Amino acid sequence: MEPISRRKLLRQGSQVVAGGVCIGCALPANASTPAASGVDYYQRLGVTPFINAAGTYTILSASTMPDEVQAAIALAAKRPVHLMELHKAAGEYLARRLRCEGALVTSGAAAAIKLATAACITRGNKSAVINIPTEMQGLKNEVIVQKAHRYDYDHAIRDCGARLLDVETLDEYERAFSERTVMTQFFNAAEGGRISREDWVRVAHKHGVPCFNDAAADVPPISNLWNYTEMGFDLVAFSGGKGLRGPQCSGLLLGKKDLIDAAQLNNSPNSNTIGRGMKVGKEEIIGLVAAVDWFLEQDDAAMEAEYRKRAALIAERVKSVPSVEARVFIPPVANHVPHLLITYDMNGIKVSATEVMQRMREGTPRIELNPSTGGGPASVGLPGGSNVIVVGVWMLQPGEDEIVARRLQEVLRSAMKS
Ligand SMILES: *Cc1c(COP(=O)(O)O)cnc(C)c1O
Repeated sequence: MEPISRRKLLRQGSQVVAGGVCIGCALPANASTPAASGVDYYQRLGVTPFINAAGTYTILSASTMPDEVQAAIALAAKRPVHLMELHKAAGEYLARRLRCEGALVTSGAAAAIKLATAACITRGNKSAVINIPTEMQGLKNEVIVQKAHRYDYDHAIRDCGARLLDVETLDEYERAFSERTVMTQFFNAAEGGRISREDWVRVAHKHGVPCFNDAAADVPPISNLWNYTEMGFDLVAFSGGKGLRGPQCSGLLLGKKDLIDAAQLNNSPNSNTIGRGMKVGKEEIIGLVAAVDWFLEQDDAAMEAEYRKRAALIAERVKSVPSVEARVFIPPVANHVPHLLITYDMNGIKVSATEVMQRMREGTPRIELNPSTGGGPASVGLPGGSNVIVVGVWMLQPGEDEIVARRLQEVLRSAMKS
């Protein structure tokens, strides 16, 4: 691989800062904050890191933390605190900054879904905190959801001893409420579903039932951090390790004060609770608070412009290969940032996009393309297809767009000969 010089990194970083906004905070740690010289354990363990041209996927270790966030964690990690005091202070700070009544740092968005459900079930009932999910007598346990909003994170709700009740029309929704209804759930980025957010909230509140919104992957835009609580959702979850660029094992539960307090009672460090196994430490709490501060200093337009610039660079290079076309695509809700979609004629370039992804993964340096490449869409709103390469540019470090472009050209050109 062509080494990226430190000078080049710094130059690119300062260009970005000069543009008005610190997207250059994506610089590697050695560029601005001197990191303690540590052992490279990836190397010791024989695990080779890759260039992230995918996005913020958990299995690919999601996002990387900006220098400011890493530095805040390093500082906090050296000093012990009372975890309850820290949780309380962080929650109050986050609630103020994110314009809601209450906030709780969780170990992820999935943990936030579970704690939201536990909060609704156990609110005002101390023994219920201990009893769920096995001793559900006398507890409300039905969660209403649109059928099109059922997804892989339902388990977090069922973990609390709750059952999901599917509805499709507004009329069915109205009629689904009973004395057993404890919460309604909304999947913010769902592609299907006939009931709008506004109707979802309105009907739930008419029945006095709290409604939850899973917006895990739905920043940017920055304002989404308050859009849904301001819309009336009682609880809203975000992942801390995706667009927010906090610790991978962090998440945010935002919402009404009484429900956030109830969620906290179900959370670690309280021992006999459903949340004890979803511990967040001082490092995650401070890291997420610092990430929120960092994120609020960014600018949506500047972030989009930077990502478009990266996509344009890659597009221009790969289009030099015959039959290759490239266009920018922004998914509507989740991962709402410019992605590059590259298509080509498989009669001339005799390789499937899946195989391109594999060759990029096995090359030097390793590069991980967006998992929607070559197949069915891997995340809501992103297209797929056998000759479609999807490049997520937002997690690239300075200079990596050039490397991705060069490797894609190499892989595509070499397939023309075969
Ligand atoms: C990623 C994601 C989650 C899980 O988030 P974690 O922070 O990894 O727990 C939940 N819901 C949706 C819609 C997601 O995209």
